[in-house]
Amino acid sequence: MAKKEFKSESKRLLDLMINSIYTNKDIFLRELISNASDALDKIYYRSLTDKDVKVKRKDLEIKLEYDKEKRLLSVSDNGCGMTKEELEDNLGTIAKSGSFSFKENMTKDEKIDIIGQFGVGFYSAFMVSDKIEVLSKSVDSEEAYLWESEGADGYSIKKSSKKGHGTTITLHIKEDTDEFEYSKYLDEYELKNLVKKYSDYIRFPIQMEVTHHELKDEEKHEYEDHKELETLNSMIPIWKKKKSDVKEEDYDNFYMDKFNDYDKPLRVISSSVEGMTSYKSLLFIPSHAPYDYYTQEYEKGLALYSNGVMIMEKCADLLPDYFSFVKGVVDSEDLSLNISRELLQESQSLKLIAKNIEAKIRKELETMLKEERETYISFFKTFGVQLKYGVYNNYGADKDKLKDLVMFYSAKHEKLITLSEYVSEMKEEQDAIYYASGASIEKIQSLPQVEQVRDKEYDILYLTDYVDEFCMTALQEYEGKKFTNVSDGSLDLESEEEKEATKKVNEDNEDLLKAMCDEIKEVKEVRFSNKLKTHPVCLTTKGDVSIEMQKVFDAMPNDMGIKAETVLEINEKHPIAEKLKTLYKKDKEEFSTYTKILYSEARIIAGLPIDNPTEISKLICDVLSK
Ligand code: ADP
Repeated sequence: MAKKEFKSESKRLLDLMINSIYTNKDIFLRELISNASDALDKIYYRSLTDKDVKVKRKDLEIKLEYDKEKRLLSVSDNGCGMTKEELEDNLGTIAKSGSFSFKENMTKDEKIDIIGQFGVGFYSAFMVSDKIEVLSKSVDSEEAYLWESEGADGYSIKKSSKKGHGTTITLHIKEDTDEFEYSKYLDEYELKNLVKKYSDYIRFPIQMEVTHHELKDEEKHEYEDHKELETLNSMIPIWKKKKSDVKEEDYDNFYMDKFNDYDKPLRVISSSVEGMTSYKSLLFIPSHAPYDYYTQEYEKGLALYSNGVMIMEKCADLLPDYFSFVKGVVDSEDLSLNISRELLQESQSLKLIAKNIEAKIRKELETMLKEERETYISFFKTFGVQLKYGVYNNYGADKDKLKDLVMFYSAKHEKLITLSEYVSEMKEEQDAIYYASGASIEKIQSLPQVEQVRDKEYDILYLTDYVDEFCMTALQEYEGKKFTNVSDGSLDLESEEEKEATKKVNEDNEDLLKAMCDEIKEVKEVRFSNKLKTHPVCLTTKGDVSIEMQKVFDAMPNDMGIKAETVLEINEKHPIAEKLKTLYKKDKEEFSTYTKILYSEARIIAGLPIDNPTEISKLICDVLSK
């Protein structure tokens, strides 16, 4: 029989697995049990909707068997089983998502990261076995098949026979080495403990023959061993247990197993609600973003159970988009098992649960921000973009729920602060919340417009995320204080005298400024200003679209033609102002050259590209060589 190769990436992953870069080998057992439990869930759910599938809930079980001499350990279930094709598809490829790949120069830790993110599941069994056999019979097939593999070399599938549907996975446990005692996986006591530790919450019985010592003869102190089939797990789903009965470690293990994460969650939120609609929920905030979080493929949602029976793996309606990173389980007796998905979405109970859950997560985050700032900041660095997106999404419908959860970089404190913190430190005469945006903190710091505001000792929020400005635009104000971009042309920090003086200069030089404006078609206006301290020029905007926002629009695939209305401002106190006035009178050609160069300078400072770099650099050289 020909051996088949694993798909190439799977092969490399297997190599790594077998060389066990994953440090905790114990987890293979929970992975196999978890798969068995899923298979039991699937067949039970099928039986509710398909009258040809006849199973009783109480007959569904998982069985562990071991043979010390032959070094065999097996995990069996009477679940849905797999057809030949399913064996091939499910066990022939590790990462079905296709986007999986190792890069050449990745470190071991980075590889573990990737493996962790994909959840190797079944393959983890290769960490402890020389050979694995999977005997399976699908409910949809009369035939059973045996899948065999000794690791990275490949696998084979052949026809076999089996009573009843389900799957038996048999591991040929490795010989002990100096480093590791694989025999522990053939030890009754160890196996019992592993099941207790990692799989206690599984809602189907996990059975194993357990030795009982029995006193045979009291006088002679004679004991006799006999074996009895025992259920090793308590079968109570973890979310149904009292919080005080569950260790933090149990929650972490449950999360890592169920949601395929290699890291503990940042937060566990458990709640039990009694009322019009009763439910229990167990929610997790991951400590890092799932590998596909910021892609189209990511699906939000919570696992939905009706009294312990899973009805939907990812119920999207239970989470708003801005909390799409939350993972977890919701279990309610008020939801009918047989309800169709369409009806479920309309169900008032579900809507009520969703509303409560949103509020619960929000509360938890607010408390974290108040009481554990460092943890919150770590959370915000990972998922803050999502919250900011929530502020402006839906035309700002949810902004009030989120405005106290978003943070921005403060120029004064040089770290993230909340809007309420900004406002509480505002100067008495200050009537706006100032912000400046750019590609990085350093770039923003060097913006000419920033200087004037910082000179007044006003704090400025530095925005570096592309969503930030949209967020500000949606918010409009916070506690009655308007958000103002320091690059907004209408920024008004001058005294009355200064304003008068500026107005006069602009009036006196109306012709000159108009000539400059005619020279550069893209700008709406050219004016002298007082706001620049040391810089000669800057670019500001009129209207709602700022330069940074235009950059975001420009980067979008379909150009919507949204443009910022720009204003070129020239520092009236800079020597260049006098120079321009002189040239305007004496040398129109040179005046045009200067205008073009100054405009290009302003664009560079604003982080905008120059459309005609060759022409501009030639003009600069002409001036330099004079
Ligand atoms: P995951 O469980 O994360 O999908 P695995 O590698 O553990 O990844 O398993 C791959 C697939 O193989 C599962 O999604 C499931 O379809 C199938 N499978 C594994 N074990 C069983 C089993 N005991 N019964 C039925 N199907 C199984």
